[in-house]
Amino acid sequence: MGGKQVYSICGMCTVRCPIQVEVTGDKIDFLQGNPHAAGLEGGLCARGSAGIALIEDRERPQYPMIREGERGEGKWRRVGWDDALDYTAERLKEIMARHGSKSVLFSDRGGPFRDLHQAFVRGLGSPNYSNHDSSCARNVMHAAQSLFGFGRKDVVYDLKNARHVVLQTRNIFESINVKEANDLMTAISQGCKLTVIDIRATLTATKADRFFLVRPGTDYALNLAVIHELLAQRLHDMKFTRMYIKDLKTLQALVEPYTPAWAAEETGIAAERVIEFVRDLAEAKPAVIWHPGWMTARYRDSFYVSRSIYIINALLGAIGSKGGLPLANKPGDVGRKGLKKLADLVSKPKEPRADGVGLSYAHFDAGPGLLHLAFKAMETEDPYPLKAYIAYRHDPLMGYPEPERLKRIFSNLDLLVAVTFSWSDTAWFSDVVLPLSPYLERESILAAKNGLKPHFFLRQRAVTPAFDTKADWEILCGLAKRLGIEPLAFNSIQDIWDYQLEGTGVTMKDFEATGMAALTDQAIYQPRDNLKFKTPSGKIEVTSTRWENHGIPSLKPYESPTRPETGTFRLTFGRCAVHTQGHTVNNYLLHELMPENVLWINDQEAAKLGIKDGDYVEVGSNGHAGRLKAKVTPFIHPEAVFMVHGFGHTLPVESRAHGKGVADNALMPGGLEKWDPAGGGMALQEHFVTVRKIEEV
Ligand code: SF4
Repeated sequence: MGGKQVYSICGMCTVRCPIQVEVTGDKIDFLQGNPHAAGLEGGLCARGSAGIALIEDRERPQYPMIREGERGEGKWRRVGWDDALDYTAERLKEIMARHGSKSVLFSDRGGPFRDLHQAFVRGLGSPNYSNHDSSCARNVMHAAQSLFGFGRKDVVYDLKNARHVVLQTRNIFESINVKEANDLMTAISQGCKLTVIDIRATLTATKADRFFLVRPGTDYALNLAVIHELLAQRLHDMKFTRMYIKDLKTLQALVEPYTPAWAAEETGIAAERVIEFVRDLAEAKPAVIWHPGWMTARYRDSFYVSRSIYIINALLGAIGSKGGLPLANKPGDVGRKGLKKLADLVSKPKEPRADGVGLSYAHFDAGPGLLHLAFKAMETEDPYPLKAYIAYRHDPLMGYPEPERLKRIFSNLDLLVAVTFSWSDTAWFSDVVLPLSPYLERESILAAKNGLKPHFFLRQRAVTPAFDTKADWEILCGLAKRLGIEPLAFNSIQDIWDYQLEGTGVTMKDFEATGMAALTDQAIYQPRDNLKFKTPSGKIEVTSTRWENHGIPSLKPYESPTRPETGTFRLTFGRCAVHTQGHTVNNYLLHELMPENVLWINDQEAAKLGIKDGDYVEVGSNGHAGRLKAKVTPFIHPEAVFMVHGFGHTLPVESRAHGKGVADNALMPGGLEKWDPAGGGMALQEHFVTVRKIEEV
């Protein structure tokens, strides 16, 4: 074992698990979950353990680069950091002088360290900070805001104390959050029941007491039937409902026709099974979690699916309950002060956002806006031109539909900058690559985690960068200096940390023992008879005035989804346990575990097409096609095919990932126009593909 221990934060996915790194000299000997972090038990998932492979990987950007050839041609000029930052700052200045500060767009992947990014964009004078969330969790976020007046992260999933967990749109044992997975396993070992609702039998489904193979796109029908049954049989938590739910009668009127027998026709799930399921839920209430998932950019009605999930939790009295969804404590809730915001160092721009959020779409959360609408603005110059785009650790060319159209849209830009630790299609298409040090080689700003036991946490550098790369604060503060954003021109990370901690009563010394600074000694459950919701009525609002005032119904009657035409399938996608979207596919350790994706196809449908397990197939949609192997299985609904997201890399610099598998987003023609107008999320599973057997080449 090594000479010193460094506490830091994993960066292999957005969960950000605390880690402990054993280091000798400048070499990492061992990486594990932080043993002081409750629920981790020192563990990491496969991706977290493979983070070590980033360090010596030469197939990542190793120094700053400026484009020499055409966009996407891959001809680069190596430059030093001063040149790269000078060049970027000068180009930004020119563009802002010509088109105004608002012509700059910045997107990241959200997460706990975004304060510095938001501060930087504000400092430029642009309102256009955005993130990936319109292709991820915006529907669930807006569903929470419409009901509770607060966001999805203002409740906690108290899995460890739950008596019944329902996972719909959440594949917890493959799309891993280590603490959540451990807590659920602990709960199951103590008798907690698990119900999984999915269009295929995931690894999570194999651990379930009950599995509903639901017809793709009919989740809302199932949930309406559950609400119907809960209310009709008076199985809901009546005291909680009386205290906290507003407009119950409106809900009752909506679900009146949606009986379990009616839903069976739509979903394929027998009425008796739903009735028995609802009884089980009622028995376990209020220690029930019906998890709303975090990746709900799927169907046109996903906002309503997310709302129905939260409504079921509320009817079961689970909101605010131990073993359910207790409210997350912020520092103020435990009598402490939160970290000082870097964004408060600069004033908020008054210009409207290019994506229309906050103005035309005033009901949506203006925080990160909706990135696909910013791309539309970039395309049409309406309401104004966007001429510079900084993609920070974000690859929209892999994460959003229609990558070829997006490239055409990006051609309207005068400057595209990628800040990245791995190659991506977006980085390859950019004008400047500013290489980020991998997380084991960089510090980040301090971050806070709200929850039953809120705390601050620290990411620190475990080893010095192997190549000529920099931390995010070095890059953004370096640009801030050149752009004259004085309040953000920090010279050291220590100065940033000191600023953030001012007035909190916490010092850097408090992080030494565990890498975390707790703000309370024990978990605190807010009293269930005094819950505060941030809606106008102070209650859970089944009818949201914020949405209704913008012409969007809070409750929507069910509409049956399109069935695929003969010979076509609904394209569905998801995660696996060993990769995080596109950015781990070229990691040599993870590539070894899973080098390519395959196409799940129902066995009876495959037989009709003469496809056997392991055959190569072509998946096509409107002139777009990809080739991969078929996984023929009875454990997927016959209307759907499925592939793991993130494959189909085409960059020559990624020798391992190159040419392996298929990218689902390339099979979604017209996809940038398909989104849920009520929740703002993309409707990425409203696409249909053909499948045919091809000979191996
Ligand atoms: S879930 Fe895995 S990849 Fe994600 S932060 Fe935790 S250890 Fe890292």
